[in-house]
Amino acid sequence: MIPSSFDYLAPATLGEAVNLLHEHAGDAKILAGGQSLIPMLKLRLAEPALLIDINRIPGLGYVDERDGSLRIGALARESDLETASVVRQRYQILNDTTAVIADPLVRNSATVCGNIAHGDPGNDHPATMLALEATFVAVGPRGERRIAARDFFLGLFSTALNEDEILEEIVVPRPTAPAAGAYLKLERKVGDYATAGVAVQLTLDASGGCARAGIGLTNVGAMAIEAVRAQDFLRNKPLDSPTIAQAAEIAAGEADPIEDRRGSADYKRDVVRVLTARAIRIAANRAAGANIATPLPFTYSPSQAALRS
Ligand SMILES: Cc1cc2nc3c(=O)[nH]c(=O)nc-3n(C[C@H](O)[C@H](O)[C@H](O)COP(=O)(O)OP(=O)(O)OC[C@H]3O[C@@H](n4cnc5c(N)ncnc54)[C@H](O)[C@@H]3O)c2cc1C
Repeated sequence: MIPSSFDYLAPATLGEAVNLLHEHAGDAKILAGGQSLIPMLKLRLAEPALLIDINRIPGLGYVDERDGSLRIGALARESDLETASVVRQRYQILNDTTAVIADPLVRNSATVCGNIAHGDPGNDHPATMLALEATFVAVGPRGERRIAARDFFLGLFSTALNEDEILEEIVVPRPTAPAAGAYLKLERKVGDYATAGVAVQLTLDASGGCARAGIGLTNVGAMAIEAVRAQDFLRNKPLDSPTIAQAAEIAAGEADPIEDRRGSADYKRDVVRVLTARAIRIAANRAAGANIATPLPFTYSPSQAALRS
């Protein structure tokens, strides 16, 4: 389909972009990588009167560590995460996440901030940002606002960003060693959105037990879910097989999936259980020093017969 007509402006500064968004609030959209917005325009699921292209604003494409945190600017692409050495060294869960998003063509354009701002429960970064206890920096006409990841995702395509705010930066606190994470995703075919995905970030105590756990779930609810009961259960426990199995059961119980072409609700809940147990093991082993490469996404589609049974 052809999008309905819209005006297009490409401001040179963030301040100009905020002013334009404020002037046209409710009728304007930020254009970043366009990998979600352009398909929505073509399907006429979005019909803004104005597109504000932020791609010509200099200085927003950074991925770097400053003041004890990883900072991801509004124009950092998925491919920038893949190549940033600091991400490979200390934030492997982000590498895991970006590696299972779509394909290299999409990842060269799509921004990490766009992935968050879009509020799509099928997107992979929201769960990871919940597990990492990230903060989102929004800038609007009244200045800057910091929003914790757990307060950001409000529902289906709904976030805490106001209509006249731009997501300027993602701030991820630097994990205190020994700590590591993992992101695992099941998809029907290569490049697909998740049937379910699980992000786990662990900090270990001196005896190798769990000092802190962050667990986020992808595409098993109207928005990314923080598995708070599973997190609380793991804290101060040894990371042995029975504990991991029980935490995974608890996380599965926190998922709230619906049946669709990707599988039944029970099937998706069980996928969460399996992926949670595996992600905890990988995160714990990485935190203990094991060199575990970025996992490939698992691909599997339940048969229609299985769906009906
Ligand atoms: C074929 C295909 C497969 C895909 N598969 C996956 C997948 O498996 N997993 C996954 O996570 N994603 C997937 N995506 C989505 C992709 O990651 C999107 O690009 C991403 O969700 C949005 O980033 P963007 O920079 O392209 O944003 P855009 O498309 O430009 O914008 C998306 C929305 O966010 C808003 N927005 C963007 N940036 C900002 C900002 N800084 N501040 C405020 N609002 C902003 C826009 O106004 C718009 O409403 C896929 C996309 C395609 C085309």
